[in-house]
Amino acid sequence: MTAAVLKLRGETAPEDRARALSAEYADADAQAILERAIREEFAGEIALVSSFGAESAVLLHLVASVAPETPVIFLDTQKHFAQTLSYRRKLAARLGLTDVRDILPDTEEAAAQDPNGDLWRRDTDACCDLRKVRPLKTALDGFGSWITGRKAFHGGERMHLPAFEWNGRHFKVNPLVRWTPEDVAEYRARHDLPAHPLVEQGYPSIGCWPCTRAVEDGEGVRAGRWSNSDKAECGIHVR
Ligand code: SF4
Repeated sequence: MTAAVLKLRGETAPEDRARALSAEYADADAQAILERAIREEFAGEIALVSSFGAESAVLLHLVASVAPETPVIFLDTQKHFAQTLSYRRKLAARLGLTDVRDILPDTEEAAAQDPNGDLWRRDTDACCDLRKVRPLKTALDGFGSWITGRKAFHGGERMHLPAFEWNGRHFKVNPLVRWTPEDVAEYRARHDLPAHPLVEQGYPSIGCWPCTRAVEDGEGVRAGRWSNSDKAECGIHVR
């Protein structure tokens, strides 16, 4: 570890540390950001959180190329498309990822709060809290940081993300934040990465089956997520 890193860790508040890293890596590519985060800055205390969705193969491939033993957290909400579960198994094997963790909702909490499995019909925020937010909080115990696949072109709050953030509890690393759809497609083609099977059916963003639909021409990437409501995020990225 460099003296500069030790100085940064020892004397800097987390918000300032994230800000300094973002400035230092403002023009860096995703590989460089990941190498700094995984091998140096947060070594041994960083995980990738992946939905194994439409664009996930790119970041999974990048992380595997840096350190295939990096823990990968997959939130198994028990509401995924069958195609997602199949894709998760095949892609992890293909990329040689050795520590993919399937994180399920707490059994007792699910039985008490969603005994019929239809909470999503009545309260999507409560359902996401039960099946995503609280399981992730538990899964991230012991980690000081996590890697996300968010990109500015997704719109909304993602348009102004830095490469490194502090959310009050963890550092978050966003190595693909400046990537365009063309960058994603070019990387996938160059490395012959398999597409999620639903992409060709019109799903550019893929979450749980009750809350995801195919999009029409001209709609935004995430227009098919919770499309009958104002909800735009599941809550795992709320500070
Ligand atoms: S995306 Fe829908 S089904 Fe999945 S956890 Fe959230 S509300 Fe529930």
